[in-house]
Amino acid sequence: MENYSLLIKRQRAYFRTNCTKDISFRLEALQKLRTAIRSHEKALMNALKSDLNKSEFDSYSTEIGVVLEEIRYTIKHLKGWSKPQRVKTPLTHIGSRSFIYPEPYGVALIIAPWNYPFQLAIAPLIGAIAAGNCAIIKPSELTPKTSEIIAKIINDIFPEEYIAVVLGGIETSTALLQEKSDYIFFTGSVAVGKIIMEAAAKNLTPVTLELGGKSPCIVHEDAKLKLAAKRIAWGKFMNAGQTCIAPDYLYLHNRIKNEFLFHLKEALKELYGEKPLQNEHFTHIVSEKHFNRLTGFLKNGTIIMGGNMDPDHLKLEPTVINNISWNDPIMQDEIFGPILPVLEYNQLDQILEEIQKHPKPLSLYLFTENETVKSDVLRNISFGGGCVNDTVYHFASPYLPFGGVGNSGIGAYHGKGSFDTFSHQKSILYQTTLFDIPFRYPNVKNGLKKI
Ligand code: NAD
Repeated sequence: MENYSLLIKRQRAYFRTNCTKDISFRLEALQKLRTAIRSHEKALMNALKSDLNKSEFDSYSTEIGVVLEEIRYTIKHLKGWSKPQRVKTPLTHIGSRSFIYPEPYGVALIIAPWNYPFQLAIAPLIGAIAAGNCAIIKPSELTPKTSEIIAKIINDIFPEEYIAVVLGGIETSTALLQEKSDYIFFTGSVAVGKIIMEAAAKNLTPVTLELGGKSPCIVHEDAKLKLAAKRIAWGKFMNAGQTCIAPDYLYLHNRIKNEFLFHLKEALKELYGEKPLQNEHFTHIVSEKHFNRLTGFLKNGTIIMGGNMDPDHLKLEPTVINNISWNDPIMQDEIFGPILPVLEYNQLDQILEEIQKHPKPLSLYLFTENETVKSDVLRNISFGGGCVNDTVYHFASPYLPFGGVGNSGIGAYHGKGSFDTFSHQKSILYQTTLFDIPFRYPNVKNGLKKI
């Protein structure tokens, strides 16, 4: 196993020069990153096509464009975010002033997954740079072409002692985790999230864990069904369902179930055509292991849409399965693929109780026009974030911190959230030396008063 202590030592030494703390340095680093990404756009698109069969449209709208927008927003706001913030001082502290200084942690370790392999490695890096840290990125081994371009982009513009990319799989991750870093930002599965937290605990290193889970999608009886079907089909099947915040399963009110499913079928046709397997832009499943895991789910329930597959190209049609219960294998874990199981309900209370019996989801989507239903769901169910009358869209707003809760994660990022995640808030009280108020001292004459 490779030893990364030297790399971390070099980054720590670089950090101690304080150069990464200058705002002009951070801004320049972000600008360089933006220019390098722009000049590698074509190479990135080719790599994403080769690793996951992502179309140019998907590659731009869900990977490159998202990152460029995050850089633009960060550059625009960085000066304001990084200023010491003056806060109130209580009367008991008369004569003093209070400030909060955001300061970088030092060396940040970023471990990324394969499903949005570019975006999920670089978006956290933007936060790490903005806050003034050095960083090591470990991209996913399952998307080797994209990981190589990430390494090329970073190596071309930054010295290794500032930002480094380490390529490799579990062994590499494990070796990196054995060293003490100052912050760990991990995106991936719940099981590996626990391993990361255990490793971080040994050095009391703070973590952000962006994990997964089963995200419910509820369609109530009063929802606008055609629109709901279109927005659900888009959010679920983009990237062939390999999206951490994709609707994992549908909860349909039994009064609208059939009508909704009719609209869903129409929406799928509109998005992917009659024969999605022949649609050259439909993303494939990342590996044979995942392909076999997913096709295993087709044994239970009744397939009512899709179900065809092309094992040679690891492609599986957008598939909807009816007659599913919580006991079926597909309901035991996050699906992470283009299969959408359908459950139905009669009373909202039923599903509020059922969802709460399971780990807290990363996202929840609710389609309804009814204000009471909205507030009942939002008040009763804890989840990372989500949308009312849409899917996935909350992810792309820099004003909404993105992250999970409970099993779906710890911490959040995007926009100022990313800057805050990679910053320690250092509180400083400036005391006056012009006078000294005696209240705080014991009432003494000639030494400590004896009681
Ligand atoms: P994963 O947990 O298998 O791997 C993620 C990263 O961890 C990879 O870089 C991998 O090399 C490394 N890793 C794997 N096993 C390890 C181990 N034993 N020790 C140390 N490092 C290890 O996840 P994945 O399959 O790449 O991604 C899919 C998962 O990620 C899904 O569960 C999905 O929900 C989740 N995800 C979450 C978000 C989010 O923002 N919350 C985004 C995308 C994906």
